[in-house]
Amino acid sequence: MKKFLVLLQLFASALLLLIGPSSGQLLQARSEASKTLPFVRTSSKSGDIRNDPSLPWRLPQNIKPSRYEVDLIPILDEDVEGLGVRWTVPGSVKIHLAAHDQPTNRIILHVNDIQLMTSETTLNKLDDNSIVKILGMTLNQTTNFLTLELEKDLEINVPYVLRFIFVSQLREEFHGMYRSSYIDPETNATKWIAITQMEALHARELFPCFDEPSFKAVFSTKIGRKDDQIALTNGPSIGNESIPHFPGWTWETFGDTVPMSTYLFAAVISEYGYSEAPSTILPDTVVRTYAPKHHIQRQGGVYPSEKAALILKDFETRFGQKYPLAKMDLASVTDFTFGAMENFGLNIYQQQLLLLFSDETTENERGRLTQILAHELAHQWFGNLVSPGWWTYIWLNEGISTFVQFVGLEAVVPEFKSWDLFIDLTLQRALAYDAIQATSHPLKIPEERWAQQDAMSWFDVIAYQKGGSIARMMEGFLTPPVFLQGLKTYQENKYLQDAVQDDLFEALDVHATGKLPANTNVSQVMSGWTLQSGFPLLQVSVNDANKIDVTQTKYKEPNSPDIWVVPVSVASKDNPEFGAEPEYWLTGKALTLNEAADKWVILNAGLTGYYRVLYNDALERLILEQLQQDHDVIHSHSRSQLLDDYFNFVWDGKNKYR
Ligand SMILES: [Zn+2]
Repeated sequence: MKKFLVLLQLFASALLLLIGPSSGQLLQARSEASKTLPFVRTSSKSGDIRNDPSLPWRLPQNIKPSRYEVDLIPILDEDVEGLGVRWTVPGSVKIHLAAHDQPTNRIILHVNDIQLMTSETTLNKLDDNSIVKILGMTLNQTTNFLTLELEKDLEINVPYVLRFIFVSQLREEFHGMYRSSYIDPETNATKWIAITQMEALHARELFPCFDEPSFKAVFSTKIGRKDDQIALTNGPSIGNESIPHFPGWTWETFGDTVPMSTYLFAAVISEYGYSEAPSTILPDTVVRTYAPKHHIQRQGGVYPSEKAALILKDFETRFGQKYPLAKMDLASVTDFTFGAMENFGLNIYQQQLLLLFSDETTENERGRLTQILAHELAHQWFGNLVSPGWWTYIWLNEGISTFVQFVGLEAVVPEFKSWDLFIDLTLQRALAYDAIQATSHPLKIPEERWAQQDAMSWFDVIAYQKGGSIARMMEGFLTPPVFLQGLKTYQENKYLQDAVQDDLFEALDVHATGKLPANTNVSQVMSGWTLQSGFPLLQVSVNDANKIDVTQTKYKEPNSPDIWVVPVSVASKDNPEFGAEPEYWLTGKALTLNEAADKWVILNAGLTGYYRVLYNDALERLILEQLQQDHDVIHSHSRSQLLDDYFNFVWDGKNKYR
């Protein structure tokens, strides 16, 4: 520990030389700040708040950052005298911020498990560099709130620069900045890499920051690396220079990002090689796949680079917004908690979900790999350009991107029959999960149920598969051109900002004329689907007038008062068109369809509705007769859903095998 402190101080001196502050001002700030907290280890591991669900998790909204200048030197497996000890990340961050709305003498931001040099924490006015004294710092270990008490109020709308010097960990666990390794097959040597995973709440483990998705800011990053390593982060590399006094070490400087959320920050330091997509596909964006050199030599990065460029090009045209960064890197790693992560400009993938080897990757694997590519690239628009206002709206990221991944898949690899896959992988999976009361929850997560310690537990089948199914249902009842226009308006209205679900619904409303039940808007139609858990069961029967009656109850909870505004598209023997646009809307408990009851009818004909349908015996028999005579008359999607519904009804005891 002692050695560590000495090295830390050496590093701080070295870094101060590099970033060049005025020493007089620094000393003054240091003497004040050090009275309260000479040195602090900001671990929150001891915190346990499971018994206190009422804690507020949100930062005050009155101070917003606009820019982070982040300098990092990840030290991998060997100590570097004067820079740092192995498995640490010495660094500094300058946060440009301003107070809005009301004057305040307090700054609150996030930090977790980082060694802060509190004596080097400074706050200066940007224009004249004048000092604002920091009287004290306190850390709430439960919320990770670091509160800085200032000697005077910040002036409204005036930019200040808050600077921290710190040492964070190059962690063993797969979050924050962490280490991973692989064996170089030529030399048998272990190659270490530093890599990141910040979503949802881990950027605060690498540098102090306003770690909420709506606090967007430009990132300007510098990474210190060994000369034989390569460094990647969100922005493009724009230059490098030797680190004075440290031979063999280089500062690499990266260009500014667009304003983005902290959870999208990423960096990779490695000895990887890369494959680059042909520049003819997307001339303004360099698309590369990075992986260990032996995988690149086997051409493992060729397919993902080319397909990523094609998908980006398709999405740019489709959503009417250019991909805003000069490059898109796809980096592979073997140690990764998730399948992939959509960090702006630097997507990170589990290796087997990114690289394609013609002599070993199966067609099934190629389909899955392309889907994941399309999903992460969809996020560059849905999540990165337009970010969720808070984590309770995570379906706007994951649900919309799950839907859009199938759009991308269809565009670049139509042979995989994207929408056939969607039914099995997304719709039916969501219906199964959402029917289990114990695990289901509303798509829009109730605020009071969200808590920091289980933030990742909400990245579930509801957010992804139900969210994707709900997006497809909206496309179904609005029609694809109207839904696309609405998504474009949403992108345009909220470009580089954050959004809540009503922002999406309002954008769709602009184009939804004639597509909704009378006197309703998209928000009203969608409230049941997003604010209630579960989904409806439509029961279909024949009434005394020989017409078809439809009633709705909550699936598996018939006594629930919940109802939904249900789009009902119908195909029948007389009109065997399996379109998604609804002929009827079920807005209350029951509805009579103007359809003959003596011939087969299929509800949810385009299979974009998110519900199950149970026919009475007579109607079921008519469908079975048609299936036996000529099953192709009934669309394969409806046949698939009949099977899925009826197997579930059998399991629920609603129906018997015939
Ligand atoms: Zn995602």
